[in-house]
Amino acid sequence: MGTEVKCDSVSAWYGSKLAIRDITLSMQPNQITALIGPSGCGKSTFLRCINRMHEVIPGGRVGGDIFVGERNVYGNGADPVKVRANIGMVFQRPNPFPTMSIFDNVAAGPRLTGKAKRSELKDLVERSLQHSALWDEVKDRLDEPATGLSGGQQQRLCIARAMAMEPGVILLDEPTSALDPIASYKIEELLCQLKSTYTVVIVTHNMQQAARIADYTAFMLAGSDFVGELIEYGETKQLFSTPHDKRTEDYITGRFG
Ligand code: ADP
Ligand code: MG
Repeated sequence: MGTEVKCDSVSAWYGSKLAIRDITLSMQPNQITALIGPSGCGKSTFLRCINRMHEVIPGGRVGGDIFVGERNVYGNGADPVKVRANIGMVFQRPNPFPTMSIFDNVAAGPRLTGKAKRSELKDLVERSLQHSALWDEVKDRLDEPATGLSGGQQQRLCIARAMAMEPGVILLDEPTSALDPIASYKIEELLCQLKSTYTVVIVTHNMQQAARIADYTAFMLAGSDFVGELIEYGETKQLFSTPHDKRTEDYITGRFG
């Protein structure tokens, strides 16, 4: 079961530079929410606020509140390490741990946090690889280095690695933009299955992809002050067919960005 993510007036800075302003938006459990918008409008920044990765960047600061389920991610006493463990993240370039085997890539998180006993680890790794639709392709080579996998397989391995932590939420930042169409399609299919278990949030610059897989879509845009804002949010079908805002319409019809 996924967990609702409720963002309330979220702003983020790089040093003194405001990058996103006042974003209020909820992502629903068991749905895919897509974040779209032109390059530089703050999609990645916003995503990194959700799992407290933004503050890792020197000068990175976040305002507002984000609730994941009942928990305020930015509340007093919230532990960023625990927050990150409960929110999986997948990046544009597949980034498996290069010196580790396929098995160890998936087992690394649970080992580090002591989440799974040694006897449970094998099951957890298998389950995660099953869920990421990679098991059949790797079950006979679990001890081989992860870097021997194709790009698409590496990306599914990264998804398995995130899932091994059994998070409530999984964030993906343009997860298919470095992949060929067939590998991309496999990831899209996978995400559509994963939403029965997780809250899925995906940044994509590919509007067809958002239209294909997302239940809800959020359109972001930076104005003349270069500060990213949420322009429109709604059911994907509605947003693409009858956008309420002229700027959304201009973007989805290819007039800018
Ligand atoms: P998007 O993912 O939509 O392309 P980003 O979140 O990467 O947008 O960037 C939003 C704004 O924040 C841009 O103006 C970008 O230049 C700025 N920015 C991103 N990362 C950094 C950083 N590490 N330091 C300073 N500014 C940054
Ligand atoms: Mg980005």
